Parts: sequence; C-alpha cells; structure tokens
Amino acid sequence: MGAARFDVLVVGSGPAGALAALTLARRGARVALVDRARFPRDKACGDLVGPRGIALLSRSGIGLEDGPAVGDMLVVGPTGNRVRLPSAPGLTYPDHGRSLPRSELDERLHRAALEAGAIPLTGRVGRPLGPGARPDGFEVSDGTAVRADFVIGADGATSTVAAQTGLVDPARVLWGFALRTYVDQPVELPTIVAWETRRWHAFPGYGWIFPTADGGANVGLGIAVRSGRERGSEVARLLPAFLDRLRALGLLDRAAAQPGRRLGGWLKMGMVGTTAASGRTLLVGDAAGLVNPLQGEGIAQAMGSGVAAAEAIVDAPGHAAARYRAALAATYLPYQQIAAAAQGALVGRPVALAALARLATAPGVGRSLAGGWAVFWNDLLDGTPPGRPRTLAAALTGVGGWASGWSPTGRWFQDASGPDLNQVPPGG
Ligand SMILES: Cc1cc2nc3c(=O)[nH]c(=O)nc-3n(C[C@H](O)[C@H](O)[C@H](O)COP(=O)(O)OP(=O)(O)OC[C@H]3O[C@@H](n4cnc5c(N)ncnc54)[C@H](O)[C@@H]3O)c2cc1C
Repeated sequence: MGAARFDVLVVGSGPAGALAALTLARRGARVALVDRARFPRDKACGDLVGPRGIALLSRSGIGLEDGPAVGDMLVVGPTGNRVRLPSAPGLTYPDHGRSLPRSELDERLHRAALEAGAIPLTGRVGRPLGPGARPDGFEVSDGTAVRADFVIGADGATSTVAAQTGLVDPARVLWGFALRTYVDQPVELPTIVAWETRRWHAFPGYGWIFPTADGGANVGLGIAVRSGRERGSEVARLLPAFLDRLRALGLLDRAAAQPGRRLGGWLKMGMVGTTAASGRTLLVGDAAGLVNPLQGEGIAQAMGSGVAAAEAIVDAPGHAAARYRAALAATYLPYQQIAAAAQGALVGRPVALAALARLATAPGVGRSLAGGWAVFWNDLLDGTPPGRPRTLAAALTGVGGWASGWSPTGRWFQDASGPDLNQVPPGG
C-alpha cells in the first residue's frame, strides 16, 4: 500500500469538500482531495443554488453567472391555492439564485480546487488510520494510506468519516430522502407543492418542479422520515401519483415526454444528531447535517461550512474543532434549531401538517405572509434589510427560538453545544 502525508485530507469533492480544499490550498496548506467518483459526476438534486450560495461563489472568485436566474417562487397548497413568495435583494445576497446541473456545478468547483493546488485522488475512503475516534488519516480504495494533521469529512449525508469517527447518533438524525427526474417542458416559476395523499392527510415532505439550464424541468419528491430510514423508499412508490397531481394542477404538461431517469439521495437535516467536529476531524455540508429541514436547500450551507472549516484549521490549528463548531453555531444554529424542532413536531402528524399547509396557503393569509415567509424559510434573516418581511421573519425566529428551546430537539442542541462554543475567544 502506498502512503502519503498532507496537512489536510478532504474526503468528498461535492460543494462542501471542493470549497474547503480550495480555501485551504489558497491559504498555502497541502491538501488531498479524495472522491470515490471521477468528475464530472451526477448528483441527485433540484439543481438550484440559492442567493447565499451565489454570494459565496462570487466572494470565492468563482462566480455563477450562467444558468437561468431564479427569483420568485410559487408555493401550491394541498387544496391548490397558490402563494407567490417574492425574492428581494439582501444586504449580503442577491435577489436570485441560479439553476445549474450538478454534474456541471460540481465539476467547476472541483476544478477550481485543483487549480488552487489541491491534490486529487480517486477512490473510496474506508478504514481510519490511527485511533478510531481521532484518526490521522484513512485508507483509500486505490491502495493509498493518506495521513494528515486534519481530516475534513465532506462525504455527504451518509458520511463514512462521520460514522467511522463516532460523530453521528443515527437515532437522533432527521433524515430525508428525495428523488428527482427531468422532463422536457419549460417552467415559468420554480414551484413547491404541498400534497395530501388523501384528504386532510399531508404527505410529510413536498414535491417540486424547477426550471433547468436547458429549458426543461427538474421534477422531484422528497420525504422527511426522522430517524426511520426504511420509509425513504416510499418516495419511489409515490412519485407516479405525485406526477399525476402535478398534471391535475396544470403544472406538468399531459403531453410532455415521460420523465427520464430517476436519481435519489439522502438528506441529513437540521444539524441534530451530528457532532460537527471533534479533535482533528471536522464534518462539513451534508455530513454535518446542514440541509434546511423546511425546504431542502443544502448547497449554500455545504459551501459555507467548507470555507468555515478550512478557515478554522488555518487560523486556529490548536483548537480548530471548537473554532469551527462556534462558527457553525453562530451562522446556522438559530434557524436550524427552529426548523428541526418544527419538522420533528410535524412529521408523523399528517392532520396537523395538512392544517398548517392549508392555513399558510389560504387566500389572504398566504399573500400577507409571503414576504416574511420567503425570508424565514430560506434562512435569509441575517442580511435582509429593514422592512415588513424582516420584521415578520424576525418575529417568527423569536417565537420559534423560544418554543423550540423547550422541545427534545432544542434540548439536544443545548446538550450538544457544550461549553466550548462560548469559551473560544474570538481571536483565539
Ligand atoms: C433529490 C435532492 C434534491 C436536492 N435539491 C437541492 C437544491 O435544489 N438546492 C440545494 O441547495 N440543495 C439541494 N439538495 C441538497 C444538496 O444536494 C446537498 O445539500 C449538497 O449536495 C451537499 O453537498 P456536500 O458537498 O455536502 O455533499 P455531496 O454533494 O453529497 O458530495 C459528497 C461527495 O463525497 C463523495 N463520497 C461519498 N462517500 C465517499 C467515500 N467513502 N470516499 C470518497 N468519496 C466519497 C461523493 O462521491 C460526493 O462527490 C437536494 C438533495 C437531494 C437528494
């Protein structure tokens, strides 16, 4: 077996790993970037990069100026009522996201990391080297033993690094599973559809139809299953019925060609159940469970956490794990705690969920909430200028923070945060 030594081993070159490797390499670190796939590779996704993702890419000097701009979004309730969520420019993000196939986006990010100096390796990362909970490297299936001062687990929702280092409590994780396919039909507005599989019995998730870069549609359905991963397969069984629902709503052309190949993937949401960093192992992106539990976005958080982990390692090598956990807590925890608690409370209560979806999309109610709703559930409060949407989103966040603090999810955050979050000196 060959052996190699680096400052940092980054496992996985999705948006999280690529941005971590790019940041580290630009700051002069010797970085190995390992992925089991050869690039370009596909990834199940709705293919939308949100406004925060666009802002981060532009700060990183990569930029994403092509692909259709995605602004307002339509939400369709269980009874067919429609609410248009407006997009508006923030102080720290633009008024739009963009659609780009993941095969292309991830290839660009991977290439940028290599151009910055990261060393690519192709192979599956498996067994840890050194003590299990504090490995100083991993075996790669190409036969290389890669050792490093730090390991960044960027290997997605079902992360091997997280499992091998004991950083995940599978019984506490909020899992989701989603399937997407492509249809040859233009889409006017990206649309999210709340669905009742029978009257007053809400499906615990949502479906979508988003525009693609080539003028077609990305259509999919995602289910939230809490810790019960065996329920993920329901999505494949229900997708045809959901496509019928889209046709009945007039959102999918009856004449459109049959959907193409389906691709599915797990989502790990709301940070619950995962310790994001310990010792010299740092988890980023889906491996850290950063997907938004209310609307499934994860690319922006993946890239943001990749940059944060890299900066923690370079700026505070003596206590990188604590520095990184503090950065995650400051940026993502307030919203994730609320969203995770809300999801934990509603999944498994189909009537309550149906009532909430009907109320939120009721005529008058939806329209008056739309601005604040868009800010809140896209986690855009920090960076939204003063005004009615901000006031509403801030009120939801205040009430949600207080209420979720009493929930089992809130208590998990209090226990998991630990004292180190408050003890890391800002410059230390
Ligand atoms: C159907 C679906 C639709 C979605 N839609 C959207 C959307 O529209 N917008 C959005 O923002 N988010 C969306 N998400 C979430 C988004 O896809 C993820 O949050 C995002 O991909 C996370 O990036 P990542 O880098 O953490 O992980 P990934 O993108 O999953 O990358 C992980 C990488 O690690 C590699 N890897 C895994 N295991 C190993 C191993 N053992 N050894 C070596 N390499 C390994 C994989 O090959 C992969 O390249 C969606 C998710 C799903 C499933």
